[in-house]
Amino acid sequence: MISALMPNYARADLAFERGEGAWLWTVDGRRFLDFGSGIATASLGHGNQHLADAIAEQAHKVMHVSNLYRIPGAERLAQRLVDASFADSVFFCNSGAEANEAMIKMIRKTMAEAGKPERFRIICFEGAFHGRTLATLAATGNAKYLAGFGPVVEGFDHVPFNNMNAVRNAIGPGTAGIMVEPIQGEGGVRAADMQFLRDLRAVCDEFGLILGMDEVQSGMGRTGKLFAHEWAGIVPDVMSVAKGIAGGFPLGAVLAKEFVAKNMVPGTHGSTFGGNPLACAAGNAALDVILAPGFLQEVDRKGRKLRAALDKIARDYPTVFADARGMGLLLGMKCVLPQGEVQAACVAEGLLAITAGDNVLRLAPPLVVTDADLDAAVAMLDRAARRCLPGAGKAAAK
Ligand SMILES: *Cc1c(COP(=O)(O)O)cnc(C)c1O
Repeated sequence: MISALMPNYARADLAFERGEGAWLWTVDGRRFLDFGSGIATASLGHGNQHLADAIAEQAHKVMHVSNLYRIPGAERLAQRLVDASFADSVFFCNSGAEANEAMIKMIRKTMAEAGKPERFRIICFEGAFHGRTLATLAATGNAKYLAGFGPVVEGFDHVPFNNMNAVRNAIGPGTAGIMVEPIQGEGGVRAADMQFLRDLRAVCDEFGLILGMDEVQSGMGRTGKLFAHEWAGIVPDVMSVAKGIAGGFPLGAVLAKEFVAKNMVPGTHGSTFGGNPLACAAGNAALDVILAPGFLQEVDRKGRKLRAALDKIARDYPTVFADARGMGLLLGMKCVLPQGEVQAACVAEGLLAITAGDNVLRLAPPLVVTDADLDAAVAMLDRAARRCLPGAGKAAAK
């Protein structure tokens, strides 16, 4: 008989009861070091006092009123995001896919309002992940995810990542914009070349295209800057954010320049839950932590420290790992062995790591991870790699 929960996830047989910082405890009392943060989402770690208090306080006051009314917490959160970014205006929703869906609509609407409705196509990249709704699936373009779900939403052209010639060749009279992840998270923690991001900005300026960034995974401090595109010294025209934006509470956002945002007049788009008082209280609390002086520098420092340790492990175990990659605390190790085998060895050592495309083991600890946590994770990963060595055998794995 089918389980009450639909079988669309391949769940590990682990159930967590509580957490503290980067650590999680199962219902049967085992302790794990969480270097996935869910999927790069629980950025403030588990049991964060400031976040939990903000949510509890707001829940007692008022949770939901609808966007029929002004929402002071949403106004404040939007203003803080505008002040900290390239954007002039913010739309709130509940997830990454919804943020991308809205970003796609905004790109199309901006062209239509400029008198060019025939320009609705968006250039996307091989290895991308933009979500599971019908339009964001089409933007993702992964044949495996699209199979069985009927006609693919029209208007997305895919080209190889980090290939400027391919981008230029794909631009046509129907092109409205480009949609890119500064770091492809699901695709295997593959970073865009900084020069590639600068060239995308230049080609958008040259052809009057809209540059859309999907920073659902790379944003909100994950790479040691508030947004990953800042490393390239450029700004997009519109950007989607979700995952870590509220420390694990469901919240998504689209940040846009005025020329994009001004087209979203009443009636063009909406969301029942989007930007409600509870979600925005969580978002504001998360921002308190992320924007505190020195916090992002610490993410950068810890990311470099972990990356150096991963580089060493990749050198020490060349039959297990091919390389280490990624920026800040969004890191990956390309596996030589099947990634699932390496992941299982990590779990056996008490380390939760997640997988990504391209046979990569992904490490995305909470941004509040401590140096002691990093040292513990590196030791666990080293032992896990040793378990995977040929001849380590089942006995050694016990
Ligand atoms: C996770 C993710 C999404 C989808 O977010 P959901 O909240 O699962 O809908 C979109 N884009 C990127 C880059 C992601 O990592």
